[in-house]
Amino acid sequence: MKDDNFLKEHNARHLWHPMGHPGESQAHPPKIITDAAGVTITDIDGHSTIDAVGGLWCVNLGYSNDAIKQAISDQLARLPYYSAFAGTSNPAAIEASQMVCDLFAEDGMARAFFTSGGSDSVDVALRLARQYHRLRGEPTRTKFLSLKKGYHGTHFGGASVNGNPRFRHGYEPLLPGCVHLPAPYTYRNPFHESDPARLAQLIAQAAEDEIAFQGADTIAALIMEPILGAGGVIVPDESFMPLMREICDRHGILLISDEVITGFGRSGDWSGARHWGVAPDMMTVAKGITSGYFPVGAALVSGAVAEVFEGADANGAIYTGYTYSAHPVGAAAVVATLTETLRLDLRENAAARGRQLFEGCQRLAETHAIVGDVRGGHGLMTALELVSDRATKAPADPATVKRVHQAAYEAGAMVRMGPPNLMMSPPLTISEAEIDTVLSALDAGLSAA
Ligand code: PMP
Repeated sequence: MKDDNFLKEHNARHLWHPMGHPGESQAHPPKIITDAAGVTITDIDGHSTIDAVGGLWCVNLGYSNDAIKQAISDQLARLPYYSAFAGTSNPAAIEASQMVCDLFAEDGMARAFFTSGGSDSVDVALRLARQYHRLRGEPTRTKFLSLKKGYHGTHFGGASVNGNPRFRHGYEPLLPGCVHLPAPYTYRNPFHESDPARLAQLIAQAAEDEIAFQGADTIAALIMEPILGAGGVIVPDESFMPLMREICDRHGILLISDEVITGFGRSGDWSGARHWGVAPDMMTVAKGITSGYFPVGAALVSGAVAEVFEGADANGAIYTGYTYSAHPVGAAAVVATLTETLRLDLRENAAARGRQLFEGCQRLAETHAIVGDVRGGHGLMTALELVSDRATKAPADPATVKRVHQAAYEAGAMVRMGPPNLMMSPPLTISEAEIDTVLSALDAGLSAA
């Protein structure tokens, strides 16, 4: 590894970071992470902290899983790459597809289309949704519904259904025909409704109105996260996703559950949709599929959707895909990750430690007036929304959020900043004592507000 001065200098000179201003990262150098073990990361200055972000909601098995590292290395030795475009396949991809479909069989999923990550998977799912309707003789169904505050990656399709203006405004015009419904966000919503079940009803009504306005026969799919992650861990009422399912069914609209964060145990069950008793038509997954050890994602489709493609004429051919779709090394990482995830039954620990983290954050809210809202309670996804005034709910200014973040880091926990939110999504292997450390670091961070 190059020396510290080289790394700091060339980071500023040559490396542009996603989701940040290039000038800002030159003025305020990022933390350069050099090592990791278990649930702990170490930066270039030798400071170690618990990684309460889990990389980026993805390192579900922590950083020291030898089985995944070994599987990657074995696969590299045997077959480092081969294309899986029609005409060729590879053993690791076949085994990975079977394991993923097995894990999500209860959600109705029957086929896997591998990609290089979450944004790719969303793009594939949106394309398949349009093609599905074309194959069934309804080519006018091209529009997409999604939720404000939703996050679906940053490809043009994903950004178009994205519900956060930050990811849209610099890049417009986006895909036409994308319509955003209100988020099930009780803390702030245009209806001033703080009761989650009543809010779910109001959004269902808004969806009905919008579908009538657009024309049901113009809408291909609704894409939504079962628990909204990057938008600030927004947990809807249990009635919400079933209401959306029922509306989609009644209007012939496909339901795509974006499980890039919630899949593979992070939400305390294998999928987020399962919490709400909903079987979607398609799912998008990534992140926990390899615990972040290799870039892999997948779009999954139900048996009923698969039948339409498999029984179709030449128009059923899927003309999308990536050089790294079903990459043998990525697929070997999937097989090892899922084997480990199931062996350790990580959804159990995610559920128990998630409750501990959520309840601990609720206690922190009692002593820190800057905490306006605490969200989570389903697995290891928790957010604190910071405010400058609880009565008016005025959001905390970004500089304050940054100060809290830095103080928490110095006190022993890396948390994720998305002003005015701080979000936590640690590895699912985290222990009770390590969650306590995260909570005391957060306490120290909030005290620095
Ligand atoms: N969908 C959801 C729900 C996500 O949370 C993310 C990433 N945070 C994506 C899609 C995009 O995934 P990726 O960053 O791997 O492209």
